[in-house]
Amino acid sequence: MVSGLRSLLANLATSLLVITLLVEASQIKSAGHAGGAAACGELASKFPSLLFLPNTTTYTYQSHLPWSETCLLSPTCVFLPQNAARIAAALPIIRKARSPFAVISVLISMNQMTQLKFANYSSTFAQVEPGNTWKQVYDWLEPSGLAVNGGRYAQVGVGGLLLGGGIGYFSSKMGWGANSVVQYEVMLANSSVVLVNCTSHPDLFWALKGGSNNFGIVTRYDLTTLEIGDAFSNVMIWSSEATTQWFDALNAYLAPGGGVEDVNAAIMPIVALTPADGTYEVIKTQVGSWTFLAEALDIPAYAARDERQLFWAISSLPDPRAISIANHTVFDRALVDLRNVTGCSITLNYQPISKAWLEASKALGGDAINLDPHDGPFIAGLIASTWTNEDDDETVYECSRNAADSIRRQTEALGLHHPFIFSTMQPRDNSPLLHMVVERV
Ligand SMILES: Cc1cc2nc3c(=O)[nH]c(=O)nc-3n(C[C@H](O)[C@H](O)[C@H](O)COP(=O)(O)OP(=O)(O)OC[C@H]3O[C@@H](n4cnc5c(N)ncnc54)[C@H](O)[C@@H]3O)c2cc1C
Repeated sequence: MVSGLRSLLANLATSLLVITLLVEASQIKSAGHAGGAAACGELASKFPSLLFLPNTTTYTYQSHLPWSETCLLSPTCVFLPQNAARIAAALPIIRKARSPFAVISVLISMNQMTQLKFANYSSTFAQVEPGNTWKQVYDWLEPSGLAVNGGRYAQVGVGGLLLGGGIGYFSSKMGWGANSVVQYEVMLANSSVVLVNCTSHPDLFWALKGGSNNFGIVTRYDLTTLEIGDAFSNVMIWSSEATTQWFDALNAYLAPGGGVEDVNAAIMPIVALTPADGTYEVIKTQVGSWTFLAEALDIPAYAARDERQLFWAISSLPDPRAISIANHTVFDRALVDLRNVTGCSITLNYQPISKAWLEASKALGGDAINLDPHDGPFIAGLIASTWTNEDDDETVYECSRNAADSIRRQTEALGLHHPFIFSTMQPRDNSPLLHMVVERV
């Protein structure tokens, strides 16, 4: 995978905008704000109704929307195009001013690009613009009795989730969310728009599936739909008294024959702690009706949009010893390190990735994540923290980093570590994909 992506990056380095900007990013960090101001000024004069500066309601709203590492961004301005033509017109201005828009100085928000329709080449494919949330997609599909393998939380966006791969409710049947993409409409560095599929730009097609936001601006995703009938689903929450039974149930589910390879089932097992008062909960979400769950999970306790937020991925084999190590390491540490962090909660998600999931990914043409079915099943563990104040950023970051390092060391010693790191769930400076890109340039 690494060599494939490396050669792809080599081929694309001159033609795709985001790569170009990454090349420039190290040189222009200090010049970033000046460049951002120049680009914002020119965009404001060309597109006055689409450009928003700090201290406006739209700027504040849009720069709080992205699910970034710490959620709150401070771009010089926000550009809000309604279609690909407007992005195409803006890109030369941003490039001329050398504004690192991928690093954030001009925030190009796709939130106005929310068209949804069925493809005229086949009504089984949904054409989804990147500014939609998954709830918008599901609400549109539901009356037709159709679903797509998208995100599990209603307010998460289509754009970032599909570029990162995408863990969905139907992944054991359909692989990563990105494996359902049959065609991308992508804007390249020269502002041209190309259709990317398995025969047109096949290398780029492969790289966009899990290759993150390194390869261009996607202006439309064509997705395979599936017919869906009634299903059972539930969100269940237990307090700490049920911890032993909860872990027994999880380990039984993960054991051979225990359910993890049932392609019609999915679980999202989460342990949650509020370090300030030691409140500890075990949460298991069980899937059937996808629309119910997407909304049930869309509450501040699980999806805190206005809080600072950090994800840290650490994977292991589905072995009770690895699960126990992860749980003790994260929560013992958090109880001490995060006790005085205002508004803090920390969760550990034991996301099972089944063998069937990885087989489905391969059968659907593969992707830049490129895991072998023999790599499964495993646990894609995710430490997720939310908190209130910027002053606590370092404390939370160090706690997650130390916990993940410690889990890795302990599980490696027992032969239970798994090297997978989910790139959208990783701080950018620790993302293997970003390292690869920066190393290359
Ligand atoms: C509460 C919560 C629940 C989550 N649940 C899941 C889940 O169930 N499954 C899962 O796989 N992930 C999940 N995630 C992770 C999620 O997939 C990532 O945070 C993802 O980046 C969100 O995408 P977005 O478009 O909403 O975010 P944004 O912050 O808007 O975008 C993320 C990145 O993608 C880039 N990007 C977005 N759109 C485009 C585009 N059209 N072209 C080029 N680049 C683009 C942006 O520049 C940015 O760097 C969850 C995250 C949160 C906070």
